[in-house]
Amino acid sequence: MTNELRASIRDVPDFPKKGIVFKDITPVLADARLFRGVIDALAERYRGLGIGKVVGIESRGFIFAAPLAVALGAGLAIVRKPGKLPWRTVREVYALEYGEDALEMHLDAVGPGERVLVVDDVLATGGTAGAVGRLVTRQGAELVGFAFLLELGFLHGARRLGAGKVHALVQY
Ligand code: 5GP
Repeated sequence: MTNELRASIRDVPDFPKKGIVFKDITPVLADARLFRGVIDALAERYRGLGIGKVVGIESRGFIFAAPLAVALGAGLAIVRKPGKLPWRTVREVYALEYGEDALEMHLDAVGPGERVLVVDDVLATGGTAGAVGRLVTRQGAELVGFAFLLELGFLHGARRLGAGKVHALVQY
């Protein structure tokens, strides 16, 4: 399936700004068999590990986290940009190329000792997923790993997250 995923993922030059080649994952979603294959492959990798919550990162992470949670028989927790969640939140700030950003999660989204899997579409520098990992561990939950559709290996995000904890279906 890896080769089919590679063939499906589309490079979009100069998006969202000049000089960046954006990996567009929407063709994978549009292909019923591939989309299901992604969820099946991730579910196979994490089944039987006692995952209690799958954490999806706004916004493309939600697309994969929700069906994966259902497949694993786990709950879903969502991490959002500041000001989007209605109840009490914890927040983590992380560095961008220029400046910083923040992500929030409800205070009770993951429980103490709960086994948690963090999911997003793409691992680049690891700044985003790293902040989510801190949100999870700050709440006393057990971070089992980080799962992605694809990893931009040349940015070494996995090193930042702890190489043993990262799983991606496709590497670039
Ligand atoms: P990082 O924090 O690892 O540098 O960036 C990862 C975050 O940015 C993820 O939430 C991901 O959705 C988004 N991202 C960065 N580069 C790309 C890309 O080329 N394609 C897609 N689909 N998302 C990207």
